[in-house]
Amino acid sequence: MANINEITCQHLRDLVPYQSARRIGGHGHSFLNANESPKSELYMFNSTTLNRYPDCQPFDILHLYADYVGNGLRPDNVLVSRGSDEAIGLIIRAFCEVNEGIVIAPPTYGMYEIAAKTNRANVYYAKRDNNFVLHKEALESAIKEAPFKVKAVFIDSPCNPLGSIFSRDDVEYLLKNNEDVLFVIDEAYIEFCRENSVTSLLAKYNNLIVLRTLSKAFALAGIRCGFTLASKEIIQVLLKVIDPYPIPDPVAQIARQALARGGISMMEDRVALAIKRRNILKDALLKLSFVKKIFDDTANYLLVEFEDGPFIFESLKQKGIILRSFAKVEGLSNAIRITIGNDEELDELMRSLVALDK
Ligand code: PMP
Repeated sequence: MANINEITCQHLRDLVPYQSARRIGGHGHSFLNANESPKSELYMFNSTTLNRYPDCQPFDILHLYADYVGNGLRPDNVLVSRGSDEAIGLIIRAFCEVNEGIVIAPPTYGMYEIAAKTNRANVYYAKRDNNFVLHKEALESAIKEAPFKVKAVFIDSPCNPLGSIFSRDDVEYLLKNNEDVLFVIDEAYIEFCRENSVTSLLAKYNNLIVLRTLSKAFALAGIRCGFTLASKEIIQVLLKVIDPYPIPDPVAQIARQALARGGISMMEDRVALAIKRRNILKDALLKLSFVKKIFDDTANYLLVEFEDGPFIFESLKQKGIILRSFAKVEGLSNAIRITIGNDEELDELMRSLVALDK
């Protein structure tokens, strides 16, 4: 019998894979733990070309996405990949040597660190202040202090889970003053607060990368389709490391429909509805005696600090309502992230919480 542990790459032996909502699982009927859209839409599907390999980068999709973003973006500034998760890995693989790495500012999306670790890149942490605010100075200090050369800084804006926005002015300052560092601004949730996008800076700075996805506002987490927006030179480098056929033909067919005019207006209606529901949920939560704080409401989720987060999480889990607990995250031990589901899901959630508020 081979000793598999012994032949596994050293850097992977103790690595815990990303704990996605699907991997954690849980028995329930109401899943408000993965920031998904509560409803799937209908799409047309043509199977007559499935015998052929798909285009590596379907040009019309790059075009549609560039048009959707605007700001003079062109198809050669766009890369399409299997979700933005794939793009995170591509960036690290393409730009970090083994003795180099990235800066992140926890709490933040977990895949930046996992992607760095699986690609033998180093990770250094920038410190947020006591109110979880991320200052540009903290990022600059981290870039300087890191015991390795920092090639990229990953910032999710809105931040998952905090909901906080990293301002366009701060991004511009960093781009201007750190020309040899890539700044990756992850805008997975930007459709829920479009005014905060930094895509207008792409034309001016070739060290900016913006990540986007169809998984959230476009309600297409199941097809795995994400976009990287950057200078043409960066896109060309990423095309060296991407697999030959990353976008299955059915994915391209659905993305095409989602990015057509009708798909975009459906997305805008979906976003407006999610924001309306979020506001109602926020008001209702604030009436509960055991809710201590609600973090910034910018996306399709609310991060809520309870008096006793683990108790609330377990009590709801018993009822089949699955939320995302942050009990293990420093400073967020009583925080729970709640995805904005549909009316029935949110009504049931509130009824259960009111019953616990005795
Ligand atoms: N970035 C952030 C901030 C996210 O929250 C997520 C998904 N939870 C992703 C990226 C990954 O999105 P995708 O489905 O496009 O891989």
